[in-house]
Amino acid sequence: MKIYNTLSRTKEEFVPIEPGKVRMYVCGPTVYNLIHIGNARPMIFFDSVRRYLEYKGYEVNYVSNFTDVDDKIIKAANAEGVDSSVISERYIEECKKDMAGMDVRPATTHPKATEEIGGMIKMIRQLIAEGHAYEVNGTVYFRVRSFKEYGKLSGKNLDELESGSRTLLVTGEDEKEDPMDFVLWKPKKEGEPFWRSPWGEGRPGWHIECSVMSKKYLGEEIDIHGGGEDLIFPHHENEIAQSEACSGHVFAHYWMHNAFLNINNVKMSKSLGNFLLVRDISKQYDLSVLRFFMLSAHYRSPLNFSPELMEAAKNGLDRIQTAMARLRDEAGKGIPGAESQQERAAREAFTYRFEEAMDDDFNTADAISVIFEMVKYANTLEPEKTTAEGWNALRQNLLKLADILGIREPEETILDADIEALIEERQAARKAKNYARADEIRKELADRGILLEDTKEGVKWKRK
Ligand code: AMP
Ligand code: ZN
Repeated sequence: MKIYNTLSRTKEEFVPIEPGKVRMYVCGPTVYNLIHIGNARPMIFFDSVRRYLEYKGYEVNYVSNFTDVDDKIIKAANAEGVDSSVISERYIEECKKDMAGMDVRPATTHPKATEEIGGMIKMIRQLIAEGHAYEVNGTVYFRVRSFKEYGKLSGKNLDELESGSRTLLVTGEDEKEDPMDFVLWKPKKEGEPFWRSPWGEGRPGWHIECSVMSKKYLGEEIDIHGGGEDLIFPHHENEIAQSEACSGHVFAHYWMHNAFLNINNVKMSKSLGNFLLVRDISKQYDLSVLRFFMLSAHYRSPLNFSPELMEAAKNGLDRIQTAMARLRDEAGKGIPGAESQQERAAREAFTYRFEEAMDDDFNTADAISVIFEMVKYANTLEPEKTTAEGWNALRQNLLKLADILGIREPEETILDADIEALIEERQAARKAKNYARADEIRKELADRGILLEDTKEGVKWKRK
């Protein structure tokens, strides 16, 4: 399996630190508002990475944080006149709802920055003790010049960076030794949440959070670190500097970055105001359509959102799910007996090609093409001419591969006529005092989302 590593700018063979296990960290959202569909891109993509690694037999320890202390959260809290934890807790809950809608599985651990302050203070102390950081008037800065490899992820050169950032010196940060030095700890301002520290009351900078949470939940050295490409610099560059300055060895072996989700070919972002919330999309589409849309492009290619592409995604997903429903509903009609060699060969060829696509740096676009071909093949099969086992194996195989992308078999729908026939049978059972059967039917209908109401005019039913 090959992964494109931003660090080396090449596709590299994936070799985990510990055989059979993957330690993976993905930077999560800052929780001050509902998430937009740009934020959803890394959530969906890395969820499929995780699922594919699990499919390959790895045990994946997946950590993704919530940044719950930040200027934007404080601003939102002040605007509402509430504590900033009210804002962050509210949007963590809302974010989890959106994730569930997009079928993004909860991480193994979702640490929150505000619950890890002790670890951050400890790491900052170590950085100061070892000469990698210094304090001025209650602010602690990372001494970028002390980390020789600074710039290795983004490919930036410190001297070039410095000439571009001279202006910082006149914007109030003149206490820094070097304009490139970044904040590890800042003193509190009026109305801001704060924690006690050796440098006075204050709060941590953003970058230190991820170094600390990653270390705590995954250890000093991890396999994969991911996020959107806007995080390469400075966030991930700074994470590397902090973590490697402390540990003295490599922090993350593979750095993966998704390209932007654009709208009119411009990055979707809160600050530009050109965003669409996941919640908005959910009013028009099932979020599985959004997920399918995101995975229809390679993660390192920019993806431009458009209503036409969403419609195309909806139609594509429908086509797959219709085939899934047919494979389920016609399953009983096959010829009794084992899967033929020919059936097995056709089925396994799809699996092989699906894995080939995913092994090539998680090419979900090609993997989806393989799913479409599998669906086309399934649609040509007639159950009466297919072995029962072969039919079922194809169905299970399709479900297993599709699940990696988050595509599910559609819910079984029950026709009105079938509901009414069952209600009639229930009435007859009651008349015959066979209450056990009558209850069984009520339960069966309830399980399928049908609610019964016994009224004077007879039995009424509705779908849940
Ligand atoms: P933020 O809340 O801005 O820190 O973003 C959370 C995650 O979403 C990070 O991994 C960002 O890189 C990612 N992200 C934000 N906007 C976009 C976008 N338009 N396209 C793709 N990823 C994005
Ligand atoms: Zn991070």
